[in-house]
Amino acid sequence: MAAILGGGISGLSAAYYALDNPKIGSVVLFEASDRLGGWIRSNRSSTGAIFEQGPRTVRLAGLAGKNSLSLIESLNLSSKIVPIKKDHPGASNRMIYVNKKLHRLPSSGLDLFKIKTPFKRPLFTAIFNDLKAPFVQLEDDSLYNFTKRRLGQDIADNLISAITCGIYAGNAKELSVKTIMKSAFEAEQSGGTISKGILMKIFNKNIDSKETKKSNLITESNDFTKSSLMQQALHEKWVMWSLQGGLEHLPISLSNYLESKGISIQLNKKCEKLLFEKDFVILTVNGEVKKYKNVISSLPAKILANLLQEQHPQLAQELIAIPYVTVGVVNIEFSGNVLNQEAFGFLVPPKEEIPILGIIFDSCIIPQTNSTVLTVMMGGAWFNKYFGESPSKETLLSVATTAVRDILKIKLDPIAYKVSILKDCIPQPIVGHSQRVSRINDYISTRRIPLALCGSSYEGVGINDVILSAKQAVSNFG
Ligand SMILES: Cc1cc2nc3c(=O)[nH]c(=O)nc-3n(C[C@H](O)[C@H](O)[C@H](O)COP(=O)(O)OP(=O)(O)OC[C@H]3O[C@@H](n4cnc5c(N)ncnc54)[C@H](O)[C@@H]3O)c2cc1C
Repeated sequence: MAAILGGGISGLSAAYYALDNPKIGSVVLFEASDRLGGWIRSNRSSTGAIFEQGPRTVRLAGLAGKNSLSLIESLNLSSKIVPIKKDHPGASNRMIYVNKKLHRLPSSGLDLFKIKTPFKRPLFTAIFNDLKAPFVQLEDDSLYNFTKRRLGQDIADNLISAITCGIYAGNAKELSVKTIMKSAFEAEQSGGTISKGILMKIFNKNIDSKETKKSNLITESNDFTKSSLMQQALHEKWVMWSLQGGLEHLPISLSNYLESKGISIQLNKKCEKLLFEKDFVILTVNGEVKKYKNVISSLPAKILANLLQEQHPQLAQELIAIPYVTVGVVNIEFSGNVLNQEAFGFLVPPKEEIPILGIIFDSCIIPQTNSTVLTVMMGGAWFNKYFGESPSKETLLSVATTAVRDILKIKLDPIAYKVSILKDCIPQPIVGHSQRVSRINDYISTRRIPLALCGSSYEGVGINDVILSAKQAVSNFG
């Protein structure tokens, strides 16, 4: 019997994939809180509009995107999907706020040959930067240093730093290029420049990345092209998707499915300690000691560190070194359509020195009842700088409404709002992260510890990444 720790989307996915792995046997899932879904939480405003507190859209690209869509299909959620197609403004119009103005980012290949503010040159000229820039051999680098060195400071400051705020609520000067832009970094390190490295990779099949090997392992058992939902998504050029009624339908449907298959899901059960013996694992849950053959942890790395600190201090030290940031989320609703343009929203690069990370135009991406819903994200790597240790919700609301009024010129009073402070919600893959994750995995495998890891702390924070990480974790016991 195996225990799964944590009932966020990765823990639930691990339980789902475990159903297909006879070597795992029966499974029990422990969740510390009184609900499932972790950071995925869809609230309703007083008018019935959806206020997503955490994630709202899931990307379709890549193997991980296809894998999630296949999960949706097998849960019979296809009819609930809200696709966001390539030509939808929610996909094609993304903006950044620079020098007190909103600027539309390039959305097509042609745009790269035009001068688009705030840039003073067409972005394709970054190739010349790359070809001229000196080669530096490195184990890893910050995303900021790498893009400044290879593509130019304007791209590092305005584009990469803003995107990093949007995905990680993090600081590009601290985050790892080797983890986040692995292919570009590997191309530079093997070819001297990104451009030459990519060409070499195309012509030299011997340059095989770890990622490709992992992908092959997982795709072996899947043929996503047979999926009718995938066919539809490709045919209609979907870029992202969400779910009617909110993304929380995914963990809800997943847990209903798991319970229908006899998986025991236990709420209000806090995992407190792990002890690994020769042939079994002793897990303490709410003070009660239980024995299992294997454990799959989907807990944030720093929480797992506490559980195994006593027996494996070296492993705990590596886990606890993965930092997290806190994000303030303010959902605001206005009556009618008050936006003067349709878009995904905008991001703010940190050099602008304002206390928000960006604003998402939820009701443009996923149409709501007759109202405009916006989500203001704030804090992240700069939470303490702008808000201190424990700001009031009134402070966050005031910052959010000021940003909406000053930047989007919306002078009306909101008809509904919700303020949430998501403590330590996004792990930060800082410089050296990939090496740290390798050391963690090596420690576990060389000592044959019956523990597999999944979740947002290790291989990416997107919903797709964590679902795929759960599949991988389960296959470790296969
Ligand atoms: C504000 C925000 C916006 C986001 N937007 C997007 C987006 O648009 N698209 C996207 O793809 N991704 C997005 N993400 C990322 C994505 O939502 C997360 O990475 C993902 O939900 C993490 O899932 P998880 O299961 O790994 O972890 P979690 O959701 O953290 O789940 C871990 C679970 O473990 C439980 N737990 C903790 N301690 C214990 C214990 N001791 N014992 C038992 N259980 C315990 C927790 O209660 C929790 O339920 C966003 C994240 C945030 C915070």
